[in-house]
Amino acid sequence: MKDQELIDKVVNGELKFHVLDKHVDAQKAAELRRRALEVLTGTKLHDISSFSLDAERAVKTNIENLVGVAQVPMGVAGPVQVTGDFADGLYHLPLATTEGALVASVNRGCTVINKLGGAVSFVLHDGMARAPVLKARNIRHAKEALAFINRSKAKLKEITESTSRFLTLDAVQTWVVGRNLFLRFVYKTGDAMGMNMATIATDAAVRFLEAELGLKHIALSGNMCVDKKSSALNLIMGRGKTVSAEVVLTREVIKEVLKTSPEVMADIVYRKCLLGSALAASYGFNAQFANVIAAVFIATGQDAAHVVEGSQGFTTAELTEEGDLLFSVTIPSLQVGTIGGGTGLGTQRESLEIIGVHGAGEPPGSNALKLAEIVGAAVLAGEISLIGALGARHLVEAHEKLNR
Ligand code: NAP
Repeated sequence: MKDQELIDKVVNGELKFHVLDKHVDAQKAAELRRRALEVLTGTKLHDISSFSLDAERAVKTNIENLVGVAQVPMGVAGPVQVTGDFADGLYHLPLATTEGALVASVNRGCTVINKLGGAVSFVLHDGMARAPVLKARNIRHAKEALAFINRSKAKLKEITESTSRFLTLDAVQTWVVGRNLFLRFVYKTGDAMGMNMATIATDAAVRFLEAELGLKHIALSGNMCVDKKSSALNLIMGRGKTVSAEVVLTREVIKEVLKTSPEVMADIVYRKCLLGSALAASYGFNAQFANVIAAVFIATGQDAAHVVEGSQGFTTAELTEEGDLLFSVTIPSLQVGTIGGGTGLGTQRESLEIIGVHGAGEPPGSNALKLAEIVGAAVLAGEISLIGALGARHLVEAHEKLNR
């Protein structure tokens, strides 16, 4: 069929958008969909059509009904000095956002951190969770099933680990509610963020448990994972990487760069990040984790919906005996990968290359852990800068200058 014929068929409803992939290659299908969409909506889609990404690759794993791209401006902050178990050096931070002042804010935080010899950043826990819900006949059956599961950890490990070269099962956490069993499988997934890998592995385990125990599979995710939702569970137990980053802010540097004092910053963290968040029953005991995490995620091809989990966590600021400020961030649920998902697409891959972490690490997992430590330092920079700006009453000024 000729291009115009295909477009006409889509416009008059004879052909669905997705069926175009069967007639032409991915790039052409995107163009025809776009042209049909222009007719259907009376628009001119010039900017959406300008892209360099590999359409064939994208439609295989990342997108359906491709029409083009949503461009988000990208800036660079840093470099920031980071020392951890995997990161050790100066790292530039690609940040994709439409919030003016964000890159400048993170950049200012990096300046502060570098003046003080860099941030220390560690991954304290690493475990991607998938939690199915299964139905037993009654609570006695549920109790027996639980005992069997506890006895069968080695078998469950064998089954789940057979689904991937890089996945290891670390724990099966269990809860019973009435006759319902919630099983939270926790895995290490190498350099991948791991959500597909964890899902495939958990499906294999669930099939085994169904066959052995006569349990009824209800849903592969029973929401105890907790994927892409705010939860106390992930704040407390962590999911993905749990990261802490820290720096001692000296009185001189706070005064020179941030134009405020350790006391003022500590007071803001206490009253805003801790008291205010507690009053609001928010799990975001911080100033702007989500801003930095969203910008890094969009730039580097992480799953942007995981910003929900990344937004949770704690900023602390404590006065030291020397009168300086021990400043830290703890992000319990940071989902990052350097392979898989959106990380292989053109701009996303280049962003990971800027940081120096694209692809598989050696040993496997080391690149994703390094990225998590660097994101921890980036989040720390964002917190220092924003708390400092609030202390100096510079926030409105900065936004008026850079965001209006
Ligand atoms: P993936 O792209 O599905 O899988 C990673 C692949 O990379 C696997 O085939 C793995 O090998 C391979 N690999 C090669 N070297 C590796 C290394 N060093 N470390 C780890 N893996 C390596 O990635 P994923 O992180 O599991 O899933 C990410 C995607 O899941 C994102 O697109 C996200 O949006 C999506 N997602 C899915 C769900 C869901 O419920 N399924 C939920 C949320 C998000 P093996 O084949 O040997 O494992």
